[in-house]
Amino acid sequence: MTQAPEDADSRRAVAPVICYPTDTLPEADMALYAAALAGAELVETVVAAPRDACSFRVPAGGFFRIRSVEAPQVGDLNLWNANDLSERFYSGKTRALHGTHLSTGERMWSCFPHLRPMATIVEDSLDWYGIDEFGGSVHDVIGTRCDPHTHHLLSGAQYHHCCHSNLTRALAEATGLSAEAAAREVHDVLNVFMCTGFTRDTGQYFMKASPVRPGDHLTFFAEIDLLGALSACPGGDCGSEHSSDVARCAPLEVDILRAPDALLAGWHAPARNGYDGSHGM
Ligand SMILES: [Zn+2]
Repeated sequence: MTQAPEDADSRRAVAPVICYPTDTLPEADMALYAAALAGAELVETVVAAPRDACSFRVPAGGFFRIRSVEAPQVGDLNLWNANDLSERFYSGKTRALHGTHLSTGERMWSCFPHLRPMATIVEDSLDWYGIDEFGGSVHDVIGTRCDPHTHHLLSGAQYHHCCHSNLTRALAEATGLSAEAAAREVHDVLNVFMCTGFTRDTGQYFMKASPVRPGDHLTFFAEIDLLGALSACPGGDCGSEHSSDVARCAPLEVDILRAPDALLAGWHAPARNGYDGSHGM
């Protein structure tokens, strides 16, 4: 290891600055969303079966609510613009803006060049959890999704019910894309109900049994027309292992809700990002 310089301690003692202060982000009108949600009615419920995924569509101005049923279960969520699959959730920039884990009032942002809110979290029944003594918290944007490629890399095995494959099948079924084409559209997820962090000593990504219980839910307002896919992770509550058929798994339910238009008076879907796209050329 490299010998530390004499001023190592003072270099380490420099205080951090927040990369992206969020006080100039477009504000979410949480009071308006709450009033609309209070008047919203259930349109349909779709179910992600254990070790499988479902897809759903939510028009702009609607809500979707992911619910835990039967037993603790983690879900991997992908979102696309329902009218343009090239606009999809951008986990990395969402993390840079809001931090490692999301909760009420925070947004799922879309990729470049669109970079606008796709969905806003309006209810989180696990918001009491905070950050635990291990540095863990729920609903992360630090993991990617369990996938058969990494599983093969690490174990040499073939497994077809990782979240990546589940989301691929759900998107293929929803759009008519081939498995190969659909797999290219699947992206880093919001890990719904998953409890994760980085170990303080080695900086490694960890998971632990989710604190979610049947009845818990996470509710989103759709800022644009959305196509979503949700995988019930083969890791179940992700307390032991994933990418296998070992863990106890439960379904997840997704309610689609719609409020009368009058309750959304004054709300407009966000415009695409205003950067002119010339990149100095
Ligand atoms: Zn998974």
